[in-house]
Parts: sequence; C-alpha cells; structure tokens
Amino acid sequence: PVLQLDIITIFGDYFAPLELSLLGKAREQGLLAWRVHDLRDWTHDRHRTVDDTPYGGGAGMVMKPEPWGEALDAVLDAHPDARPTIVVPTPAGEPFRQATAHELAGAGHLIFACGRYEGIDARVLEYARTRAAVREISLGDYVLNGGEVAVLAMVEAIGRLIPGVVGNPESLVEESHAADTDGLLEYPVYTKPASWRGLDVPEILLSGHHAAIAAWRRESSIERTRQRRPDLLGEASEPDPTGE
Ligand code: SAM
Repeated sequence: PVLQLDIITIFGDYFAPLELSLLGKAREQGLLAWRVHDLRDWTHDRHRTVDDTPYGGGAGMVMKPEPWGEALDAVLDAHPDARPTIVVPTPAGEPFRQATAHELAGAGHLIFACGRYEGIDARVLEYARTRAAVREISLGDYVLNGGEVAVLAMVEAIGRLIPGVVGNPESLVEESHAADTDGLLEYPVYTKPASWRGLDVPEILLSGHHAAIAAWRRESSIERTRQRRPDLLGEASEPDPTGE
C-alpha cells in the first residue's frame, strides 16, 4: 500500500467505520492498509490492566508504560525496514492542519497511539522517540474522552490525500485550507434547482462566464475567511483581478 496504518487502542470498535465509503474502497484497491491492535493484548494480568493512579496524586488514571512499550515494540519490529511516524493524539499537541495531513500522507507508515483517561505515562513517548519519529497532535482546543475520535478524523483527512482515493483529484484542489487557494475557506456552493423556497442561486453562477465565476468565488472565499477566520488571511487578502 501507499500508506500503512497501525492503530493501537483499547476501543477497536471505534474504527469499524473506516471500512465505509472512500477509505474502505481504498483499502480494497490496496492504496491504504490498516490494522487495529488491542492494547490489552500486551497486558499479562488477569484483569488486563492498562491504567494506574498518577504519581504526585490527583484525579483520574494514567495509562501504564509496560503495555504501551510492548505494543510499540511489536508493531515496530513487524516493519524493521521502515522508519515510521508515531502519531500521538493529545490536546497538548501541535494543531492538526491540512498541511499536517499532507505531511503524514507521505509518511509511508503511521502508528497511532490512542490515549484514554488522563493520558499515557510520559516515558512511553520518550522511549518511542528513540525508535521512530513521534508527533503529538491535537485535533483542536477542546478535550475528548480518548484519542480514537481524533485518530478517525486524522485518518480520514490523511487518507483522502492519497492519490486515487478521491475519484476526481480536481475536488481536492479548490477546497477549504488547500494550499492552491492560499488556505482560504471555500466559497458557498449550489446545485439545482436555481430557485428553491424563494431563494435564488447567485445569478453569476448561471452565466456560463468562467472568468467572472472564478472571480466571484475568489471574492466570496476572501469575504468568508475575513468574517469567520481572519487568522487565516495572509497574502490572500487582495482579490485577484484576473479571477484565477
Ligand atoms: N489530561 C489530558 C490533558 O488535559 O491534556 C486530557 C486527557 S483526555 C481526557 C484522554 C485522551 O483523549 C488523551 O490522552 C488524548 O489521546 C485524547 N484527546 C483528548 N482531546 C484531544 C484533542 N483535542 N486532540 C487529540 N486527542 C485528544
């Protein structure tokens, strides 16, 4: 496959939806491959314990280092030639962006380590860094119950960038956050009918005038970005007079 994914979690069922739709098809075509591993397979007690109380006190539980160490060793040893990237979802990580998705789509092999409770014993990442590249990545400035939903979102964003996964590659270029549109938000989109419940599609889109349509879309993108995400506006703030 172009991209091999190994996902380590205590809730493998979260990843059943990967089989659906485009990513499922990509897997059938051999573009993408993934394996979901149960962290508890690397425990050795009757209760298959993966957590313990935090040193220093405080609320919540922390994921124990031993099962994580064995899990990472097993997955890394199964791919001795590759130098994979270990992705650790955490609200304390670097923000996940479209550019991050592009970088990870080219990594060849990604290992996702899904935390739960108050997170994973910090020594696990220290150890992991001796064996592979490690990226701690946040889905956004909010707290989820576990890494699984964050990993699902990342895998979907990454997977659709693998050539051949999205049927029409054109649909990747004009999207929100795409580099070729300067990272602007996408313009509003419309389909038939031209008039619906008294609401009309902007006239220009029916004109067949491609340059004018491109200019309108560019301006709409800039206006939307200015209103909703001014932080994304860089050099793109001037409307392009050629409409390209
Ligand atoms: N105590 C941690 C903190 O304050 O940074 C939060 C732990 S959270 C309840 C449990 C797990 O959910 C984390 O280890 C991480 O894997 C995942 N998680 C929560 N929020 C996330 C986010 N915004 N992005 C990525 N992963 C997240």
